[in-house]
Amino acid sequence: MTAVPVTEDAVPPAGNPLVVLENVNKHFGALHVLQDIDLTIGRGEVVVVIGPSGSGKSTLCRAINRLEAIDSGRIAIDGKPLPAEGRELARLRADVGMVFQSFNLFAHKTVLQNVTLGQIRVRKSEKNAAEQRARDLLDRVGVGSQADKYPAQLSGGQQQRVAIARALAMNPKVMLFDEPTSALDPEMINEVLEVMRQLAQEGMTMVVVTHEMGFARSAANRVVFMADGRIVEQATPEQFFSNPRSDRAKDFLSKIL
Ligand code: ADP
Ligand code: MG
Repeated sequence: MTAVPVTEDAVPPAGNPLVVLENVNKHFGALHVLQDIDLTIGRGEVVVVIGPSGSGKSTLCRAINRLEAIDSGRIAIDGKPLPAEGRELARLRADVGMVFQSFNLFAHKTVLQNVTLGQIRVRKSEKNAAEQRARDLLDRVGVGSQADKYPAQLSGGQQQRVAIARALAMNPKVMLFDEPTSALDPEMINEVLEVMRQLAQEGMTMVVVTHEMGFARSAANRVVFMADGRIVEQATPEQFFSNPRSDRAKDFLSKIL
């Protein structure tokens, strides 16, 4: 399969990109799960990654956050190359906020503790300052009144908004979202997407794996379509949804739209 070159108006802003992947390859045994991935994400850019199940979207996110090691190629975050180790890796992870499909909150900690823990341990914030920041962020995502509850006492949509607040508390340079609404009941999807839209409007650099095509259309600067471990097509949402060029993308869109 030949990759379709990115078109003029889907090219990220030139100069000083925030996330750069060059010729990245990753195998799981015989499975070549990331194949020659080249991807540059500009500051403030919102990139939505879509594609069939098993195409390597989660592995891509995990590689950017160094939750998966890559076999070859280069990844750099804000000019700093991976792999980082030890303290440097902890700092890098703090620069890259991640929100997963499953909410991943610490079950035995309160909502407030969930949002202060990383600030205190990794960012070395004072407890009072961390709590103030946590409360501000919880207010911002609409769950300020839940601060003293435990995750299990919250709805899925509330938990996912706490997870977003927790990631933001680290003051990340880029936020990765891996199907953040896929595990939610339908009536809770919008409250999470709304928080993400807000973040995008505020200029956060975001990589979002999602099946929510409405979000892709309205919030993405660029759509990256993956299949079989490759980036098959990149385009603006307008181009991608109205005029997909690859057969794989046409086939994918015909099944979901
Ligand atoms: P997507 O997120 O697009 O559905 P993934 O990145 O999760 O795809 O997975 C891509 C492929 O890699 C799938 O075939 C999946 O089964 C496989 N895979 C993912 N993680 C592992 C792992 N830890 N070990 C072996 N195979 C894996
Ligand atoms: Mg996935």
